Amino acid sequence: MGNYYDIAPELLYKAFAKVENMSAISTDKSNDPRTFSFESNTCLPSQASGLGRDGRRYGRTGTIHTPHGDIHTPAFIPVATQAAMKAVLPEQMKDLGAQALLSNAFHLFERPGEEVLDQAGGLGKFMGWRGPTFTDSGGFQVLSLGAGFKKTLAMDISGMKSDDVIAEGKERLAFVDEDGVTFKSPLNGSEHRFSAEISMGIQHKIGADIMFAFDELTTLMNTRGYQERSVERTFRWAKRCVIEHQRLTAERSNKPYQALYGVVQGANYEDLRRKAARQIASLDFDGVGIGGAIEKRLLGQTCAWICDEMPEDRPRHVLGIAAVDDIFAGVENGGDTFDCVSPARCGRNGAVFTRDGRWNIKRTQFRTDYRPIEEDCNCYACQHYSRAYICHLLHAHELNGYTLATIHNERFFVRLLDEIRAAIDADRFDEYKQETLKRFYANGSKG
Ligand SMILES: [Zn+2]
Repeated sequence: MGNYYDIAPELLYKAFAKVENMSAISTDKSNDPRTFSFESNTCLPSQASGLGRDGRRYGRTGTIHTPHGDIHTPAFIPVATQAAMKAVLPEQMKDLGAQALLSNAFHLFERPGEEVLDQAGGLGKFMGWRGPTFTDSGGFQVLSLGAGFKKTLAMDISGMKSDDVIAEGKERLAFVDEDGVTFKSPLNGSEHRFSAEISMGIQHKIGADIMFAFDELTTLMNTRGYQERSVERTFRWAKRCVIEHQRLTAERSNKPYQALYGVVQGANYEDLRRKAARQIASLDFDGVGIGGAIEKRLLGQTCAWICDEMPEDRPRHVLGIAAVDDIFAGVENGGDTFDCVSPARCGRNGAVFTRDGRWNIKRTQFRTDYRPIEEDCNCYACQHYSRAYICHLLHAHELNGYTLATIHNERFFVRLLDEIRAAIDADRFDEYKQETLKRFYANGSKG
């Protein structure tokens, strides 16, 4: 187990003091033997309704090159939280077309500990996955432990209970200070600390190709004043992440290069999102993560505000969304990669995604329905098994039920992004979007 929380406060303070000396952050990449890069291919044309400056639409296709392979974008990145897809093997993820997997730095720090992954040769090797990998910084998990807010990015404020409201002066339950976050382990109740340097140390040892800077996540219920302070704090943490990342990259120069994305916060506020984007753009990050709470109706607009302020040569990851309409809004406004636990989590509960909407395969009507989940789906579950069988497995809590439903749902999102990519390249994104959304939501489907 990691013991970073034992680091003496004076050492952490020292690391922080270095931030004052901004010359420590290099922007000269001329001699940098990076094996990470992004190439864009087709860009969506601007139009009158475009949400970016002058009607710009930032949607595009491209390729992210990493030491463990390429990711053709836009792409859906399935979430293997604890270095595992629940009930699905890496080979099966490869077969269903997944290009990369995202794991969680906080969970792997808790168990088995980042040293175990480092000694194994990094996350991909540890879990038997031969493609690119991502880790998130742990900030989301750490901060949501105390605050208890909804685990989604696109938040519907109207549905929130009064218990979710965080009052001024009592803004967080997880303890955030200038240096980092103190929290209790949900596994054993022991006290831990996370900070920019600790998150970087953990993520370097985990060894994913793409990592995220440690940021403070706020909710839509936080006050404007808190959001302002949080954006500034996230910027100070971002600078510390870059310094520590560069130090660790030099120290571990025998390891494959790991790219670092800065995360843009700022909730629903245009001025804060733009400011946060300019701050992140000013640092030597390889890409950007669009994070934090965003009201569903503002998702596309928020991506466009951020893209207005960012250099276009950096890939952009939209953290934690997988509603079909949100995916389209995210892609149209510049998202290159997307991750979400929802396809797997929904699948285990019997909710399956199809072109005709999301429905629950455990319903009585499917007990004797011998058709596949979806007639024209080419996933392993649909090629070999019936609705009736999967309905039975899930009712009986048979593990194969989780496997088959998850394979189908992950295939649905991987394929959706593959088709969006093909549509952008063929200059028919708008038609594809219209057809797909009309059909998916025709029966008032959720998701
Ligand atoms: Zn299928």
